[in-house]
Amino acid sequence: MTQTAQLGNALQGEADAKLARIVADFPILARPTSRGKRLVYLDSAATSQKPRAVIQTLVDYYEQYNANIHRGVYEIAARATAEFEDARLKVARFIHADSSEVIWVRNTTEAINLVAYSWGSTNLKAGDAILLTELEHHSDLVPWQLLTARTGAELRFIPVDDRGMHVLDDLDRLLDGVKLVGIAHVSNALGTIAPLDTVIARAHAAGALVLVDGAQGAPHLPLDVEALDADFYTFSAHKMLGPTGIGVLYGKHRLLDAMPPFDSGGDMIRKVDYAKATFNDLPWKFEAGTSNIADAIAFGAAIDYLTGVGMDWVREHERALTAYALERLRELEPRGMAVYGPRDPELVSGVISFNFADIHAHDLASVLDTEGVCIRGGHHCAMPLMEKMGWQATARASFYVYNTQADVDALVDGLEKAAGIFKLGSAASARVS
Ligand code: PMP
Repeated sequence: MTQTAQLGNALQGEADAKLARIVADFPILARPTSRGKRLVYLDSAATSQKPRAVIQTLVDYYEQYNANIHRGVYEIAARATAEFEDARLKVARFIHADSSEVIWVRNTTEAINLVAYSWGSTNLKAGDAILLTELEHHSDLVPWQLLTARTGAELRFIPVDDRGMHVLDDLDRLLDGVKLVGIAHVSNALGTIAPLDTVIARAHAAGALVLVDGAQGAPHLPLDVEALDADFYTFSAHKMLGPTGIGVLYGKHRLLDAMPPFDSGGDMIRKVDYAKATFNDLPWKFEAGTSNIADAIAFGAAIDYLTGVGMDWVREHERALTAYALERLRELEPRGMAVYGPRDPELVSGVISFNFADIHAHDLASVLDTEGVCIRGGHHCAMPLMEKMGWQATARASFYVYNTQADVDALVDGLEKAAGIFKLGSAASARVS
């Protein structure tokens, strides 16, 4: 064996060992399904699995220092406050922001609604426009539909081509009169990575702000909101190894400072009399009522985990897995496999959407489930995109840190089983055992 080949094997061995250690950190992946199959989880775009460290952080909080934050003077309240604010600092460092710019919310959806209501109520009027893309998730569409309906502003869309790539030819014309651009960093339906640098630079040149829906970006790609120059960036902990019920709105300090509160009540105030109130500093101005303390702290543990693994590693791992999956799915093309979205692993992030012959995506998902393989079938909260493309539904496999080539092989084996089952009768009459 040559020296280069030896080095190559050693590096591969190291990579395999790291991946094996990661897989072992996720207790759910060691539990067989009720049919006794290995759990092959390929639905991380919907929600990710949680490593032991995150689960243990939740248990520790409730067992050791459960108390409300920002008020109590006793030891466990002080610890809860410190851990809660420390988690905010971890998130801030992770995305390269100041901690005053990290607002805790329930999820991406709430973060976008916060901006649509708070920023929108004081900055948008009839004659203005909001520019989105045709790839947006309903969460980055419906709040803007409601806002434009309330204000009489116009809603426009950056088109995508039939591979789900943004078409920017008309961007400057589309930006005329636009106050804010809303764009998904990564499409949950097709995996397309948005050309953010171009869109943000041109939006700013046209005087528009940019909100990036980072629900599928922050979990998978190295992120520096300052370098990106995004005005708002939103994400959910549950898609990045953290718990449900906690997410983040990042906003530039001067923009958040100028925005009126969204929810109001306790914790977000500085002084209240019977007639009026003044509001707390950032970030607390936007955090009314008792926060989701445990989940915020556990999100901090998820950030620690991702930082430990390394976001460059995450991106490279998913890029390699996507390349492998695209290659394996190509084998099924003669039997009717149609893969949607950009087919270049450099242009997508860990999501593959497809249809297989005439088998409905839900039926495919059901057959795969019998093999322990979890995929998603449906419209992926992107109904307008499905309609534009003429797809009733697609099947979607999505990857994360704990997925392996063996998981991709299990997907392909499951698809072959589906092909076998459905060839026995029509798709409508076939029964899944
Ligand atoms: N945007 C995108 C691109 C998403 O993938 C999702 C979740 N599927 C959301 C927004 C909404 O996230 P959440 O349900 O956590 O608010």
